Amino acid sequence: MKDTKYVFVTGGVTSSLGKGIIAASLAKLLQERGYSVTIQKLDPYINIDPGTLNPYEHGECYVTDDGAETDLDLGHYERFLNIPTSQVNNVTTGKIYQSVIDKERKGEFLGKTVQVIPHITDEIKHRIQILGNTGEFDIVITEIGGTVGDIESLPYVESVRQLLWELGHENAIVIHLTLVPYLAAAGELKTKPTQHSVKMLMQSGVSPDVLVCRTEHEISDSIKEKLALFCNVKKEDVIQSIDAETIYDVPNFMLEEGLDSVVLKKLQLPQDKQPELKAWNQFLSKFKNPKNTVEIGLIGKYVELKDAYKSISESFIHSGAENEVKVNINFIHSEEITIENVKDKLSHLNGILVAPGFGERGIEGKIEAVKYARENNIPFLGICLGMQMAVIEFARNVLGLKNANSTEMDATTTNPVIDLMEEQKSITNYGGTMRLGAWDCELTEGSKIKNIYKHSLISERHRHRYEFNNLYLAQIEKAGMIATGKNPDTNLVEVIEIPNHRWFIGVQYHPEYKSTVLNPHPLFVDFVKATLEHKLNNRENK
Ligand code: GLN
Repeated sequence: MKDTKYVFVTGGVTSSLGKGIIAASLAKLLQERGYSVTIQKLDPYINIDPGTLNPYEHGECYVTDDGAETDLDLGHYERFLNIPTSQVNNVTTGKIYQSVIDKERKGEFLGKTVQVIPHITDEIKHRIQILGNTGEFDIVITEIGGTVGDIESLPYVESVRQLLWELGHENAIVIHLTLVPYLAAAGELKTKPTQHSVKMLMQSGVSPDVLVCRTEHEISDSIKEKLALFCNVKKEDVIQSIDAETIYDVPNFMLEEGLDSVVLKKLQLPQDKQPELKAWNQFLSKFKNPKNTVEIGLIGKYVELKDAYKSISESFIHSGAENEVKVNINFIHSEEITIENVKDKLSHLNGILVAPGFGERGIEGKIEAVKYARENNIPFLGICLGMQMAVIEFARNVLGLKNANSTEMDATTTNPVIDLMEEQKSITNYGGTMRLGAWDCELTEGSKIKNIYKHSLISERHRHRYEFNNLYLAQIEKAGMIATGKNPDTNLVEVIEIPNHRWFIGVQYHPEYKSTVLNPHPLFVDFVKATLEHKLNNRENK
């Protein structure tokens, strides 16, 4: 059983400063030093989880092995640390209130008035300590979502104040991430916003131990001194976080600034082993020195917001580096693709990915994109809804079932090649009721997918309600699209491929959730490889 230490990361001045990346970078450095670390995110919104949120609101919904629908920062934690997260790594105000109210209904508060302090804060403190109490971790880093001063994050900051007191200063510290803006007109970096945000934090009784300052320009010693003077920290506790070319540079930047060392000193933990970041830097060097470039189209309907496809984009970074190729993702709006313009929009691409999604909007454009990839022998990867679109396209254009559809889009189609799972039919609540989390899948010997994974039994994460309708399996296979991955218990189709095509694979699951810097996902690695080969072949043939 380890005596777990806690690091809280708060944010000041504005949102979007990258608390998740700072937390993940610190965790990476501590991990490299031999500590076992995990990261948790506390989200102040009242939704139980982001599962029901529109991607435009909150970016991608990330899914863990144990089926939690979570904030996309958990994806960064996994990609940096190469260890899985779970339900307990993401807490929302909705979850906190739900459990307190459930307890109240059961009479567990013995007639007391249920209040924010102590009942809500007790529940928050309990959730923070669940990970520590497993005894698995030396250090738990807890990122407090939102910006200090927000009404909705007050109970979290208050819980941090109580915990700092209860755990003792050598066991729990606060890193405050702030912005030091550059005023071009004055030609100066400004410390005032940071001073104000630290004051705001102090009004809640929390004094930061370390300041991490986001900046576009180098922060001079005199600015560090000024920040130290006004914010109750030492100069060496002021850490500069300068804008990086890629998020994967940030662990190195934090190492240079000594963030890990400052943190360990405050937590009174030994610093025997230095972080080496060997494998990490090998990845970075391949990523930064590509030998070739490929153009991959990502066909989706949330393309205005790149965060909606975060894990897919990151998977292309990992798999591109593995292939020493720069992957240029062309985000293409599926609503803008028509029969008439599909060639114009897609002919320059070396590979086509049709993205996950929900609902009818943009569906016909996705189907056109699949058709274009299939007919022109362009490497194609369909993920979740993208796989379902590949099945629909094949049923319509190869089998001639003109009205083939998913019952998600057309509940009355007479050819429901994609249909609701039996156990989904009685479900009325939307939240948390999809087929979620890790499920096994058995791959067919001799198939492309089996050659890619090199294992017969794989486990991948899911997030969907609709499935390949096995009533159509025989017809579809006879026509040349084969189901090469199935759930061994239910026989549900997980993978389809077209052997008579250069590279055409659709997966019902989400491989992107499991790609990490140190373990680029094999499906993405092979897809990128295929797109490069296709590009080189095409060039030779011209
Ligand atoms: N809307 C589809 C379903 O629910 C696909 C979901 C997805 O792409 N994640 O089955």
